[in-house]
Amino acid sequence: MVELTLTDVTKRYDDTQGTEVAVDDLSLTVEDELVVLLGPSGCGKTTTLRMIAGLETVTDGRISIDGRDVTDLHPSDRSIAMVFQDYGLYTTMSVRENMAYGLKHSTSLSASERRDRVEEMATMFGIEDLLARDVSDLSGGQKQRVALGRAMVREPDVFLLDEPLASLDAKLRSEMRTELQQLQSRLDITTVYVTHDQKEAMTMADRVVVLDGGRLQQVGPPEEVYASPTNRFVADFLGNPPMNQLPAVVVDGGPSAQGLRYAGDAAVSLGTVPASTRGVTPGDEVIAGMRPESLSLTASGPETAGAAETETTGFPGTVTVTEYQGNDNFVHFAVGDEALTAVVGPDVEFSPGERVSVHVAPEDLYLFDPATGDALS
Ligand code: ATP
Repeated sequence: MVELTLTDVTKRYDDTQGTEVAVDDLSLTVEDELVVLLGPSGCGKTTTLRMIAGLETVTDGRISIDGRDVTDLHPSDRSIAMVFQDYGLYTTMSVRENMAYGLKHSTSLSASERRDRVEEMATMFGIEDLLARDVSDLSGGQKQRVALGRAMVREPDVFLLDEPLASLDAKLRSEMRTELQQLQSRLDITTVYVTHDQKEAMTMADRVVVLDGGRLQQVGPPEEVYASPTNRFVADFLGNPPMNQLPAVVVDGGPSAQGLRYAGDAAVSLGTVPASTRGVTPGDEVIAGMRPESLSLTASGPETAGAAETETTGFPGTVTVTEYQGNDNFVHFAVGDEALTAVVGPDVEFSPGERVSVHVAPEDLYLFDPATGDALS
């Protein structure tokens, strides 16, 4: 069991242009699990990883591994292995030499133990037949396996991966994703993985850490973060297409529930406020969130078009563009001034200009505070 802890870690870069806060007061514990740092470009993922590795100094805060403060230790004294997107292999060496290079500092191992360790790791990554080959002759996927094998051969306490699959094509990336996942769950090694690819994060992570502007937004298992985003940023960042968000007003919906109307047109009822949402009262302005996959669209005949919409008939939209995806298709439509998207089944077809009725179950509505962006629940 290895516990990596970041406590109030901040990284500031000062230069002539001013001060850039790359990582802002980040606290996190990772223990025998694969944690993915996820967020848009510039949110501080790589800086965080480089601070853990010791490749970047920490401005404030502490980093410890199993209670040992490593904040000021040299990278080679941290029992950490890191794999980069560009592999970082020695192209003039063979696969075997590259992998053995990872053991260069392991003075406690005999030559035969090193050889055994390299072969064992090569077998684990399915590259045992490539050991004698020059690295420069390998394909991208093979190089990535060598880079992973070289990092793991040292049996590090903490494994750091910075976009390790970004250079691979889609098919190989998906294969390597599965392999890495299997490996990690077999070895149970404390792993921090950086990606901006949310699919990679959602499929691989035990927990995701969503960052924005260097600040922690939410941390939790992927399904939890997806189902219960703490704010609009997380709701927007996770999910493809992203969650629809539109301004709404809470209205008196009778004795048992409060209604929700589109702020741009009081005649458009978006449904009822979910029972789990407390603390809103009629007149409150909110942001209503709806996942594209929880919307269902039905064609609205000319006789209902323009008629007052009710909860059972849904609210009205006009299709703008449809995107064929093969399996599920995206339908983009307008509600007042808002552009929304629904994911519909492969057999459902709509054309631009077509009027639709949009249905969403109350429990699939998310409400956010328009001022802070925080979820109201
Ligand atoms: P990407 O996905 O594009 O790699 P990232 O989330 O990994 O982005 P970082 O590379 O950690 O982001 O950068 C975080 C912020 O710190 C950015 O605004 C970046 O411009 C800034 N930054 C990073 N390195 C330096 C540096 N050496 N000097 C000044 N600013 C830096």
